[in-house]
Amino acid sequence: MDSRRRKRIAALLAAKRAEIEDQIGGIEDAVTHSTAGGISFGKRVGDGTSIAVERLSQVAAHEGLHDTLAQLARAEASLAAGSYGVCAGCGQDIPAGRLEARPFATRCVGCASVSG
Ligand SMILES: [Zn+2]
Repeated sequence: MDSRRRKRIAALLAAKRAEIEDQIGGIEDAVTHSTAGGISFGKRVGDGTSIAVERLSQVAAHEGLHDTLAQLARAEASLAAGSYGVCAGCGQDIPAGRLEARPFATRCVGCASVSG
């Protein structure tokens, strides 16, 4: 991999990391604020329920973002080690198109679908 491409990928990973950290911060703010205020079951039970459901989906999104962050860290490490773009599952090169869409991908589409 030439240094220009490496720099481009490092920039993509950094941008993605900033974006995810931003999203995590936003979710943590929302969850903190709704927890601090408590769920009000005041007028209609449905209001509280929808807030609770929303919070659950935020927690799920939050976990997903942390997973992505962990993947990003692995991608950054492999970029530093010179093994970036090689599938961790089968050792084949990950197609450039997939890396463009998911610069933090550490597996090819085939291996990712097998392992989840
Ligand atoms: Zn693979």
